[in-house]
Amino acid sequence: MDNIIDLRSDTVTKPTKGMLEAMLQAKVGDDVFNEDPTVIALEKKVSEMFEMEAALFCPSGTMTNQIAIKAHTQPLDEVICDKLSHIYQYETGGFAFNSQVSIKLLDGDNGIINAAQVEAAIQPDYDWLPNTSLVVIENTCNKGGGGYYSLDQIVSISQKCKEHKLKFHLDGARIFNAIIEAGYTTKDLGKQFDSISICLSKGLGAPVGSLLIGKKDFIKKARKIRKVLGGGMRQAGILAAAGVYALENHIELLRADHQKARKIGAVLEQLPYIESVIPVRSNIVIFKLNGLMKDIDFLNKLEKARIKAVQFGPQTIRFVTHLDFTDEMLEQTIKILKETRN
Ligand SMILES: *Cc1c(COP(=O)(O)O)cnc(C)c1O
Repeated sequence: MDNIIDLRSDTVTKPTKGMLEAMLQAKVGDDVFNEDPTVIALEKKVSEMFEMEAALFCPSGTMTNQIAIKAHTQPLDEVICDKLSHIYQYETGGFAFNSQVSIKLLDGDNGIINAAQVEAAIQPDYDWLPNTSLVVIENTCNKGGGGYYSLDQIVSISQKCKEHKLKFHLDGARIFNAIIEAGYTTKDLGKQFDSISICLSKGLGAPVGSLLIGKKDFIKKARKIRKVLGGGMRQAGILAAAGVYALENHIELLRADHQKARKIGAVLEQLPYIESVIPVRSNIVIFKLNGLMKDIDFLNKLEKARIKAVQFGPQTIRFVTHLDFTDEMLEQTIKILKETRN
């Protein structure tokens, strides 16, 4: 399917030759016995990057988020997050299924919430109310169009959490996209959160894998929850090697993904069939079509031109740029967008 331009997600990338080499060379063992040297090395690398105590390699970002919610809460607790959050929108209601907690949704600015909103959402201590115990933010925010937090915004929410004894989790599926743009470091972030979840299989281009990072006691508990969810993997070093390779070679490449996304955003702004584009801040472009173009027709026209995209709501489309989206594909995409007529 080589000549298809796939902008549905940054999860569609295939491992590069260098990554496959690294996977072939990986030393492996049984990771359920904690004996896979490559998994151990990846967990150590990531916990050191964020200056947190420990990390846990998991099959998916859904699992790392779900483990974090389970480990930080009790049944009858409530989790505060933005209404666009992945944990609310795209994890099959797992917060209720796995953790028996309720969710308090905030109306943020394209997915970005602030400390005042968090404070106002904390439940008073009455028998008839759930017990607020966890705040989750998403950085960058997928459904918010890939926007990111400033360090000040994060620090003020973190302080609010400490003041009210709430745990603070970062859904950092695309945290390196935020870091590249916002100018803070992994270490700056490590200080602010009780736990962080990162994805290797999004912009970083690994085939599989996410890490949950936090204190030693938390990760010990997380290991048990990973096992009961069926996420204990055996010779997982083959996958972890791809993750190590991605962290060493692919972070800087995100910059080029962002440039391409900004170029597409700028072109879309000028087209007659576009109603609005969420300001492009990383590798995600979310836009609305106006009355001149029906969403289904638009997707069909793109499909005929061998470009794949996803619908992201009524009249709303998402493009995500990634490692396998080349300069030639960018030119071709822009050409097709300009030529498309209703
Ligand atoms: C992709 C994603 C996840 C995790 O998804 P998996 O497909 O389960 O790895 C979590 N949060 C956000 C914001 C994501 O985009």
